[in-house]
Amino acid sequence: MIQHSDSALSVYIHVPFCAKLCPYCAFYKQKWGKEREQAFVEATVKEIEWYGEHYPDEVVRTVFWGGGTPNILKRVSVERIMTALRNAYSFQDEVEITMEMNPGMSSKGKLAAFREAGINRVSLGVQSMNADELVVLGRNHTAENTHKTLKHIREVGFDNVSVDLMFGLPNSTVRSLQNSLDAVLDYDPEHLSTYGLTIESGTPFFRNQQLKVGQDMERKQFQKIITTLKKKDYLHYEVSNFSKINRESKHNMAYWELRPYIGLGPSAHSFFKGNRYSNKRSLDIYTRAPYPSAYLKSGVKPYSSDKLLKEYIMTGLRMMDGLSFSTVNDLFGVDIKRRYANTIQSLYALKLIYKPDHDLRVTTKGVWVLDEIVQQFL
Ligand code: SF4
Repeated sequence: MIQHSDSALSVYIHVPFCAKLCPYCAFYKQKWGKEREQAFVEATVKEIEWYGEHYPDEVVRTVFWGGGTPNILKRVSVERIMTALRNAYSFQDEVEITMEMNPGMSSKGKLAAFREAGINRVSLGVQSMNADELVVLGRNHTAENTHKTLKHIREVGFDNVSVDLMFGLPNSTVRSLQNSLDAVLDYDPEHLSTYGLTIESGTPFFRNQQLKVGQDMERKQFQKIITTLKKKDYLHYEVSNFSKINRESKHNMAYWELRPYIGLGPSAHSFFKGNRYSNKRSLDIYTRAPYPSAYLKSGVKPYSSDKLLKEYIMTGLRMMDGLSFSTVNDLFGVDIKRRYANTIQSLYALKLIYKPDHDLRVTTKGVWVLDEIVQQFL
């Protein structure tokens, strides 16, 4: 198992409800219902209590409410789950507690209540600020909703805000992308995550053969994001993520650094005590048996350190600071510079990585073929 000097715990809570189901989305979710919410909350509290009883000494470093649409929950539901977590575990003083939110769903009063319940970071699913693109994406909000929500988020005092934007959308242009970027930058978010649209199998977009823009346009849009955010002093710290100084997502960094986390709720994944396991993708099963013990019996595969090393390389290559040879040596006792000498030399010859003196760091050219680069190490 990897030993970090600070190995405190991250907690992911998967809220499997949405007001409307977007046609490109492959996450586990379903339409919200009052009884369903109630059953979900009861089960999640039980799962938290189970962890608290079996592993009482953990200290929580980050909490991330994802989904789905967490801000669809009633404020009392959020308070109840937060109280259960605080009863089970102590939190670090500087704990980061993020909630993913969709624009236009929460009143200013509800946002203030979430903040009072302990949420101290918002990740807002903006995706686009262009009306036609939001329609194509089947989103349940307008650009006006987003303006209002961002305004309210700031007014109730959230000082750590991330926005999600998408590029490569059908019929989008560099200009439409710039419009979305400029609109959100007016609120000076501390963090931005930018994702190219992927058409996942099993989604309505896939079945309808919905097309993205061409690769050329997608690259131009991403390049526009990089240059615009650089001018605004954002740090491009991970392939898809940009932040102001010291405002990187601590929770996502925990995944990338292979720190321990538990996933609560249906479909949530965990990496805990050296094992990876996940809850079933079924709210029904989850509400009947929310204890991870049910999954621990059947679904857990002990992780070999070689597999972990490969994951570490895979995520490390996504970090713009790169993967330090000495850190890998400290964590795994492996000299990857020597182990992958031929691969590293050919990537350097192709100008896909910078000179591999102390670390593995992809060049701008390498970013576009990152998946292929990663494959060389698997
Ligand atoms: S709101 Fe988010 S989680 Fe829900 S369907 Fe749309 S993209 Fe998926």
